[in-house]
Amino acid sequence: MGEDELNLYEYYEKLSYFDLVISEIRALRVRIERCLEEGFSLSMEEINEKLEDVVDKIEEYGDLYGYDDFYEKMNESLEELFWTSLEEESRIFSCGNVEKRNVWRKVLDSFGLIRFWNRWECEKQGNEIRVYILHEETGFYLLHATYKLLEEPFCHVCSMPGVITSDCTYHLDLYGFDRIYVLGKYIASSRRTGDDSLSDHILKLKVEKEYALPLGKGLAMTLCYSYHELLNSDFIVPVPLHSNQYRERRYNQALELGRVVSEYLKREKGVNIPVVYSLRKTKNVKMHNLSRVERKKIVKGLYEIIENKSYLFEGKKVILIDDVVTTGFTVSECSRVLKEAGAREVNVLALARTV
Ligand SMILES: [Zn+2]
Repeated sequence: MGEDELNLYEYYEKLSYFDLVISEIRALRVRIERCLEEGFSLSMEEINEKLEDVVDKIEEYGDLYGYDDFYEKMNESLEELFWTSLEEESRIFSCGNVEKRNVWRKVLDSFGLIRFWNRWECEKQGNEIRVYILHEETGFYLLHATYKLLEEPFCHVCSMPGVITSDCTYHLDLYGFDRIYVLGKYIASSRRTGDDSLSDHILKLKVEKEYALPLGKGLAMTLCYSYHELLNSDFIVPVPLHSNQYRERRYNQALELGRVVSEYLKREKGVNIPVVYSLRKTKNVKMHNLSRVERKKIVKGLYEIIENKSYLFEGKKVILIDDVVTTGFTVSECSRVLKEAGAREVNVLALARTV
């Protein structure tokens, strides 16, 4: 090993583990970029191998220091990378070679969802949001889905459809939040009578991260049109997953939605409401098989603020974001924790209320 290499090695050792991971992703990107520009050959196998190395390191980091912490740091460090390379995106997707495009897509995917920002577009038309997807070969946007917005009557406290606020009993045992805001309704597939793109996409978001883009843009658009009182909020806080759940799924759909909403507000409205990943789920409890009574009981104490983050919320107005509100106990407990940390107002923002 030469002297330079030795110095370099020592330097890397001094960096935190996380910085090392980021450096490796960056180095890999630079290498691939050179290959594309100067025609060097770099095999898919070689790239896959290196990407797997990076993913291993990320997992190792998660095991050592926890994933909650990881999200936060990942957010901060990758922000710069997102922005320096946005103009590359159009170049990449107009590149004719399918293999090269796939390589890029894989690399870009490791940088985050925001890189695919332009693949999905939303437009509000009357009482629905039309969702378009970019057809890469022609460069045209094609109508892909329609999300139906919530219509009156609905409860102005918990957004339960079909009931006026003063008659609503669905929120009587809920607590912590000031109000629940949603885009539309979630109807389980067994109970659907017609097409329901919103419910379809919500299910897809559980297995495909990219659906956070159309759903998040639609949600942000609804906020701007119908719920503009939320525009002066200070933070967006996603409902957390337990670290084991994260490992299984590899992303947190509430966090991805939060990022897209925050990004949309920044780009379209010049409004800056940063995402702060500040809650932790203390036990790996899955709610979907439990009854309402069981959920209400089990949710107590299930969430806490990550150490050193509680000072952030004193006197602040917070948007708590999640994909779907079913019984409302999860968002109740998360809101309670945020209020306990001093939040002045906590409003829940979700894609849908389960009916
Ligand atoms: Zn209600």
